[in-house]
Amino acid sequence: MNIVIGSLSHESNSFNPALTTLEDFSPVYGHEILSRLEAGGHSPLHGIYQVLRSQGVNVLPTIFARATPGGLVSLEAYEAMKAGLLKELSRYSNIDGVCLHLHGSMTVEGIGDGEGDLLTAIRAQIGNEIPLVASLDMHATITETMLAKADAFVAFRTAPHVDTKETGAKAAQLLLNALKEGYKPTMCAVGLPLLVSGEQSESAKEPMASLVKRLEQTDAEPAVLSSSLLLGFPWVDVSFNQGAALVVTRGDSQLAERYALELAEEFWSRLDQFTFTTEAYPFPEALAVALSLGDGPVCIADCGDNPGAGGSQDIVYPLQVCLEQKLDNILFGAIADRSTYEECLGRKLGSSFPLSFGRLTIHPNAPGITVTATLKAMGKLGQTPAVLINTGGIDVIISKARVMMLDPQDLNGLNVDVMDYRILILKSGYLDPKYEAAASHGLLALTPGFTNQEFADLNYKNVTRPIYPLDRCFPYNPRQYLLHST
Ligand SMILES: [Zn+2]
Repeated sequence: MNIVIGSLSHESNSFNPALTTLEDFSPVYGHEILSRLEAGGHSPLHGIYQVLRSQGVNVLPTIFARATPGGLVSLEAYEAMKAGLLKELSRYSNIDGVCLHLHGSMTVEGIGDGEGDLLTAIRAQIGNEIPLVASLDMHATITETMLAKADAFVAFRTAPHVDTKETGAKAAQLLLNALKEGYKPTMCAVGLPLLVSGEQSESAKEPMASLVKRLEQTDAEPAVLSSSLLLGFPWVDVSFNQGAALVVTRGDSQLAERYALELAEEFWSRLDQFTFTTEAYPFPEALAVALSLGDGPVCIADCGDNPGAGGSQDIVYPLQVCLEQKLDNILFGAIADRSTYEECLGRKLGSSFPLSFGRLTIHPNAPGITVTATLKAMGKLGQTPAVLINTGGIDVIISKARVMMLDPQDLNGLNVDVMDYRILILKSGYLDPKYEAAASHGLLALTPGFTNQEFADLNYKNVTRPIYPLDRCFPYNPRQYLLHST
């Protein structure tokens, strides 16, 4: 059996004006992908590969590309990766199926729905008969084009996402079962007109914990192959922005519709339960709460400027507040500022010098902060080059590029031990489980930035109204939100 695989994944934030480039993706094509997959990992494509290989499938690789969430994908980058994928695909004949991982909320400059465009191009090349299944992020945005061009989607069920590999494996198994037993999956999706952040919908907490259990009950129905709740991605101002309930059945479209309508109804009945699952305050209050707590380190997520959802990761407002209050024993970062990083490289460890970096507001021409910095370390934050400076008793990480704060161990390359600090102020949304484990307490700071949690403060112009919470009182009839394959 010959199955094509590939992964192209990006979560695109339309409020961040910096486009995501080809360099940000570092795409890998063709057979080089297989050696990466053989080396092991936890991505959905690793899960897809493992299932297919364990069942003797001939795996035909196309593309493996992922970038940190950021601004829209540049048209040039997208077209290059799409062409690369289609070129690899054109090498293969006698294809039995296609199994991909896509984020589901990739928005492309000048195109919009990236996954819809990509699936359309793949379908045009392989024809309508070959089954195509994809795993998706839980924060995917389903469009009618995506629905029309794929046979089944299977989404993550955990946020933070700890079931990535498992979800890829589920998608691959779904495809294999359909091929072996000779049926075509069919799916139905019902839109949920809302904007909800990950920080209001962590899967271990209510209402998502109960809703995920409900998915498990739906999956237990004999004709159901998979069910998903897609939460969408709030920081993209496009007309098709919404969440969705999606059900895949063994060829029974009426049943898929019935279950998807039921899931959507259940979700909507719990709408007012989607609130912050961690204590959340404006930054000065979050800082005051952190200072009142005894044991460190208290972790404050600077969630308005979260690179994990496309923030620019250069807003220094929280640092300014800490310096004004003359606080110490705090770690802040990382601030992504390439030129400042490079300027520090020319300095001696232990030396002090004036340094300007970051921006005080999201305005493109906003000034940065100017401090007297002492260079403490040069090295890496995970895989990203970075330096550690100290100013006024506060340690600040400055990185060469945007980088998600996922694991305290990533700071070893800067000789930083998070346990040495009273407060960590991290460019992050909900805390990654490893930071959660290290912190004595976790707090959310509702800060300014391109991932601002106060949606009413963002200038949405294109989302279809009504949409919750920009509009609060409107009737919801799931039938009116049925997505049709176009
Ligand atoms: Zn996600």
